[in-house]
Amino acid sequence: MTRSVDVVVVGAGVIGASIAYHLVLRQLRVAIFDRPDTPLPPSASWASAGGVRCQGRDPREWGLALEASRRWPLLSEELGADTGFRATGHLHVVERPQDVDPLRARVARERRAGLPVEPVGEAELRSLAPALARTAIAGAYSEGDGQADPRATTRALLSAARRRGGSFHPWRVDALRLGAGRVIGVTAGIERVAAEQVVLAAGSWSPRLASAAGLELPVEPRASQMLLTDAARPTLTPTVTAEGRALSLKQLPGGEFLIGGGWRAEIDPERHTCRVLEDSVRGSWEEARALLPALTEQRLAYRWCGIEAQSVDGVPLIGAADLPGLYLATGFSNHGFQLAPAVGSAVAAALCGERPPALAPLSPERFRTPA
Ligand SMILES: Cc1cc2nc3c(=O)[nH]c(=O)nc-3n(C[C@H](O)[C@H](O)[C@H](O)COP(=O)(O)OP(=O)(O)OC[C@H]3O[C@@H](n4cnc5c(N)ncnc54)[C@H](O)[C@@H]3O)c2cc1C
Repeated sequence: MTRSVDVVVVGAGVIGASIAYHLVLRQLRVAIFDRPDTPLPPSASWASAGGVRCQGRDPREWGLALEASRRWPLLSEELGADTGFRATGHLHVVERPQDVDPLRARVARERRAGLPVEPVGEAELRSLAPALARTAIAGAYSEGDGQADPRATTRALLSAARRRGGSFHPWRVDALRLGAGRVIGVTAGIERVAAEQVVLAAGSWSPRLASAAGLELPVEPRASQMLLTDAARPTLTPTVTAEGRALSLKQLPGGEFLIGGGWRAEIDPERHTCRVLEDSVRGSWEEARALLPALTEQRLAYRWCGIEAQSVDGVPLIGAADLPGLYLATGFSNHGFQLAPAVGSAVAAALCGERPPALAPLSPERFRTPA
């Protein structure tokens, strides 16, 4: 039997869950497909570092990043479940004198765009993060940024979508259904669901599903890894990144340090799984200890990896596909978590016929070759 809804959302990672939630807020009939108990490894929402940072982004993401930073502090209350968001501030540091002026220039551009970020000198940097190595000489600080729990956030968005009437189908979509030159729904096992629109939010799995429907996406799977130490006394308040270092560093509420920065993991493209690489563990750990010497007293407790949809130009693809009936929300290229609340509301608006300006620079149209 074929069931009929307004929108099918394929994938309940943080992006699909947020889109589904915002669609049901607009009273649309929504069916969401994914494995039960999502997020699960190796999805990006499961592996994510949970950094909530609006500074240091590609200008094409500024609109969404700004809107997302307004939403994060209110999200737990709105969803009725804790996302773990804490506005610890985010500090991006430079260690070489020649990097100071380019950072100031970047901050000035972001401030003109309305992003809440400010330049900090050495003294202020020391008071914000006294434990950082003396090599850090200046920085950019965004007070409202911070961290959240990616798995809790994903579950909170999905639960809120379901509570408000979205139907969750605990299995994966096998194929997009085509009819008369458009996508008309999905099949998943014996289930067929017809829909006006299908949103492809299946992260790094998206290219495979699209390709089977004849659409090649400029997106490829990319695996990266994270490290977690054992717990320490409170040492580092802001989340930290550093110019010239592949590093993201934060201390979690329980005292553990979470270390990332895009270090590659090994990917098995056939099975769509990933494996932690020892070289990446060493490199990542060294970068972190160089900037936060207190880490030499810590032990690495866990390591894991996840697979993200990497777009060829490093920013997401959000918008109507070259196949009527299909809407893309993929290619988040290792920084989609912060954007998620704003992506959900903008995509819901777009599917209701509005034209959110924040989505214009991210449209898949940028890859269309002129006829
Ligand atoms: C190691 C790592 C650290 C990161 N750190 C940060 C960070 O600090 N800050 C930040 O902003 N971003 C970060 N990111 C990026 C961010 O986590 C991702 O951009 C975001 O989670 C992408 O969410 P998604 O829903 O698009 O994809 P995913 O989370 O991968 O979800 C895709 C979902 O689709 C489902 N799916 C697949 N195939 C099907 C199918 N056929 N039918 C139905 N469902 C299907 C999967 O099961 C999965 O649940 C990080 C990413 C990684 C990998």
